[in-house]
Amino acid sequence: MASARSFHLFGRAADASTVPMLLVDVLRHDHPIIHCNAAFCSFTGYAEAEVLGRNCRFLQGEDLDQPGSRQLSEAVAQGRAARIMLRNYKRDGTLFYNELNIAPLAGDDGRVSHYFGVLRDVSEQIAIEEQLRELASTDPLTGLLNRRRFEGLVNQEILRSTRYARPMVALMFDLDHFKRVNDNHGHACGDTVLVGFAACLSRGLRVHDICARVGGEEFAAMLPETPIASGLEVAERLRRSVEAMRTPAEGGEIAITTSVGITQLTPWDDSYTSMIERADAALYASKQRGRNRVTVA
Ligand code: GH3
Ligand code: MG
Ligand code: MG
Repeated sequence: MASARSFHLFGRAADASTVPMLLVDVLRHDHPIIHCNAAFCSFTGYAEAEVLGRNCRFLQGEDLDQPGSRQLSEAVAQGRAARIMLRNYKRDGTLFYNELNIAPLAGDDGRVSHYFGVLRDVSEQIAIEEQLRELASTDPLTGLLNRRRFEGLVNQEILRSTRYARPMVALMFDLDHFKRVNDNHGHACGDTVLVGFAACLSRGLRVHDICARVGGEEFAAMLPETPIASGLEVAERLRRSVEAMRTPAEGGEIAITTSVGITQLTPWDDSYTSMIERADAALYASKQRGRNRVTVA
């Protein structure tokens, strides 16, 4: 059995720990914090006097509607331990992701009287996970979606559009004579042109349209709820804005053009492949017909 002295020592050890910790009284109204260690103060930037007596939800600032806060209330109501993820804020407003471990402490009567909370800042881990998710779905050069993500979204949209009998259009783009840009101005300039092209596409589309980089200098777009006539207008407008685009380069400017293939959703399209293959064939026809033009399939 631990002696009173060892309890006391253990409390001092918690105070000396570099891990932020809290003690909360759950028998008093609104569960005030009755103790916090020095690590808690130095990590959050709050002085002890600013913390004691408050409910720990003050760490959430205005960001109160979180799944974690509901899980926290539930665990305390049931008197059990829990590990909870919360978006919390330091005194200076900096967001941190807090993996909070809470454990109930019972008095001699067996009734839970306090909760002990240990904070763990997992912000870095969350940021890395977010970056990995981004990398898995976007093209690092242009920031557009990559082919994999685009394919998934097109497949979803095909199902929706088919179910609700809504028109939908797919566009394919391939830059004309792009090898010449690389050969004449270098690969880095070629990359800048690709970034400019991507920006041109994004600017020229509506918010619920989706564009992607599906290959080296091949791009695609999907226009939900769009009949082919409007899709053609969009394609023609995009083709012209690419034609008007100028990329500064050593010794002058680079001008490029794009060939475009366009197709609408048909009742027998069941996947990305069937629709995009048709748009690709139309794109190929644009190349055959002399480039810098739009062909419908
Ligand atoms: P076409 O009009 O027939 O499309 O001619 P093209 O020269 O554009 O030919 P093609 O589409 O076959 O070649 C694409 C070129 O794009 C080849 C490759 O060097 C270049 N390319 C592909 N990816 C990148 C990239 O990420 N950066 C740069 N700078 N160039 C790329
Ligand atoms: Mg190509
Ligand atoms: Mg090309």
